[in-house]
Amino acid sequence: MKEFLKVIKRYVAPYKKYLGWSILMNVLSAIFNIFSFTMIIPILRILFKMSDTVYEYIPLTSGLSIKEIGNVLANNANWWVIQVIDDIGPSMTLLLLCAFLGIMTLLKTSCYFGSSAVMIPIRTGVLRDIRMQLYNKIMSLPLGFFSQERKGDIIARMTGDVGEIESSIMSSLDMLIKNPILIFFYFTTMMVVSWKLTVFTLVVVPALGWIMGVIGKQLKRKSLQAQELWSDTMSQVEETLGGLRVIKAFNAEKNMEGRFSKVTADLRDKTSRVSTRQALAHPMSEFLGTILIMIVLWFGGSLILKSETGSSSLIDAPTFIFYMVMLYSIINPLKDFTKATYNVPKGLASMERVDKILNAPNEITEIKNPTHIQDFKDKIEISHVRFCYEDGKTILKDINVSIHKGNTVAIVGESGAGKSTLVDLIPRFYDVTEGDIKIDGIDIRNLKMKDLRQLMGYVNQEPILFNDTIFNNIAFGVEGATMEQVVEAAKIANAHDFIMEKENGYMENIGDRGTKLSGGQRQRISIARAILKNPPILILDEATASLDTESERLVQEALFRLMSTRTTIAIAHRLSTIKNSDEILVMSDGEIVERGKHEELIQMNGYYKKLNDMQSL
Ligand code: ADP
Repeated sequence: MKEFLKVIKRYVAPYKKYLGWSILMNVLSAIFNIFSFTMIIPILRILFKMSDTVYEYIPLTSGLSIKEIGNVLANNANWWVIQVIDDIGPSMTLLLLCAFLGIMTLLKTSCYFGSSAVMIPIRTGVLRDIRMQLYNKIMSLPLGFFSQERKGDIIARMTGDVGEIESSIMSSLDMLIKNPILIFFYFTTMMVVSWKLTVFTLVVVPALGWIMGVIGKQLKRKSLQAQELWSDTMSQVEETLGGLRVIKAFNAEKNMEGRFSKVTADLRDKTSRVSTRQALAHPMSEFLGTILIMIVLWFGGSLILKSETGSSSLIDAPTFIFYMVMLYSIINPLKDFTKATYNVPKGLASMERVDKILNAPNEITEIKNPTHIQDFKDKIEISHVRFCYEDGKTILKDINVSIHKGNTVAIVGESGAGKSTLVDLIPRFYDVTEGDIKIDGIDIRNLKMKDLRQLMGYVNQEPILFNDTIFNNIAFGVEGATMEQVVEAAKIANAHDFIMEKENGYMENIGDRGTKLSGGQRQRISIARAILKNPPILILDEATASLDTESERLVQEALFRLMSTRTTIAIAHRLSTIKNSDEILVMSDGEIVERGKHEELIQMNGYYKKLNDMQSL
């Protein structure tokens, strides 16, 4: 319960005014409901011809207790009904009372609707807020987080778990407001009608509540397990969608099917158990509710039967029926209340999973008063850098590099040597484990992150494009870019011509991750993006994907234009691109094993020479 209240406090606070409305609507609904049922008493009196009692009108005076006021009101109502019966006859009065019952019920149901309707903005609002929080958190977390938490898992948390929070915690919120109000009003009415009978009822209720509680206990743990399996399922779907080409090429459909069927079978098993327990809640409370009615009916009924006049000293028959109606009415909110206590643990389990992302510490943080930097003036200095990922294995050992403004430094080496890791350290995608990286003499950890990244442009091996227009993909990251600027950048990137051939030109949508473009075209779009951003430092991860000669020439040309006026750090696979670099670093197993200009390295007759010979074959 404490956990639940915390969640409510965290998310419902901005929607307080709706809560107020909900409470008001619920109170009105309960009052109308009770009033509509009080109509039953005079109706029954008329039907059973019990209206021979004589009532006198008693004026309300101040200084009466609540019970006395109740008695006076009941007496006056009876007096009024008898007056009306005398005036217009019993059947007309009956019709009048029925009409009154109808109107009251209409009012009651309208308020009931209103109370649910005002909850809708809260439910949908909270859902949106959690999704937004998650999304923003995902963007702020360092890349290192995502190597552990798989993408599918995050999607599962964003969809499944957030949905679960909505359906269980938020709908329970509605019930937890509505039901206590209804219970309070019904209970008060019952107390007023017959406190003795109510005390008797109260003795029975806790025993029934205890039985319900026992069943609900294990629900949270079980549903946590089920949600984890849902994550696994989503991960596999994600993986499969990303790897369809390979799966088909390797005829691995059966294999994948086997993996997937295992996880879905597990998921089915767990959700079945959770659902069975949940399905038990409704019939169980229905049954226990009926038992309660049974006991009270038997107890109260036998009291009435014993008295000869049909009205015991405790209660008369019509009032007893009214009492039973109230009792029956209180059972539904009680039932919903227990249902909420069943649902809340499921939602809390999901909240826990969402919180795991929301509360994940962001290790790459800015210092308190970071230094602002507008421009890159002198050099980037990487000194004595050691780096390991979270697994603790050292990937980079004692790296020392100076990159002067305007220079091009190329990094070559076998796959897994640590090239990408090294360039990821410069924009602080990861922080160094030891040593430091300085830009113009300032440790990058002391710089404002936005300023640091503003200095850099990326052209990746695998161009990252978004499902949007060509224009927006190029203008990505540059606020308020004009069409002229975008076209200019595209021209420099050798992309303008192919863009103009598209049906909608720059407004053409390029599909999911740019699938509607060829590999070379995607690269040129991503080069145009870097050109438009016009950063002083360029980080280049050269494409290994083989392009056709013409396409490669266009990409190369675009790259040379981009590099010519900038400081460039390039991971190169084709040595032809980097022959003119100011320095070439040859990396192997996390270390720089050779360094120098192309000719110097050839003369060294080492690793670089071998690489060169291999490529010129
Ligand atoms: P290269 O770019 O030279 O191919 P990388 O920098 O990608 O090499 O990788 C260097 C080493 O670091 C590899 O052994 C790789 O397995 C490891 N590695 C890369 N990324 C991660 C990561 N997120 N977590 C743990 N190890 C990683």
